[in-house]
Amino acid sequence: MDDCIFCKIIQGAIPSTQIYEDERVMAFHDIEPQAPVHMLVIPKKHIASMAEAEPDDAELMGHVLLTAQRIAREAGLEETGYRIINNCGKNAGQLVFHIHFHVLGGEKLGGLNS
Ligand code: 5GP
Ligand code: ZN
Repeated sequence: MDDCIFCKIIQGAIPSTQIYEDERVMAFHDIEPQAPVHMLVIPKKHIASMAEAEPDDAELMGHVLLTAQRIAREAGLEETGYRIINNCGKNAGQLVFHIHFHVLGGEKLGGLNS
């Protein structure tokens, strides 16, 4: 997708502070962190949002989530805990229309159940 920021990050056309990469996914630090640790995990396949994911994407989406678990563990968040967030569409405040999961931690997080 030519006009997609995260596709450009995957291609290396926009720089990012990369955390993890394999043939299917990438993880990097959020440019505007909302917590001491704020990482993003994306599939390399351009899927605009959760609403666009299809049954054929099930294995890929599972790998994205397990990558979130992996980078959280490697960032030392496992003991204190962390939150994985996906914003889907306007009311959720989705800004980048390439599916991504936020991984937040490093402090007691506000919001849900706080
Ligand atoms: P959304 O609201 O779509 O779930 O969140 C998009 C996230 O992407 C935001 O937290 C924003 O800070 C982050 N972001 C937007 N542009 C860039 C960028 O060019 N590089 C990085 N690393 N993060 C970005
Ligand atoms: Zn994209």
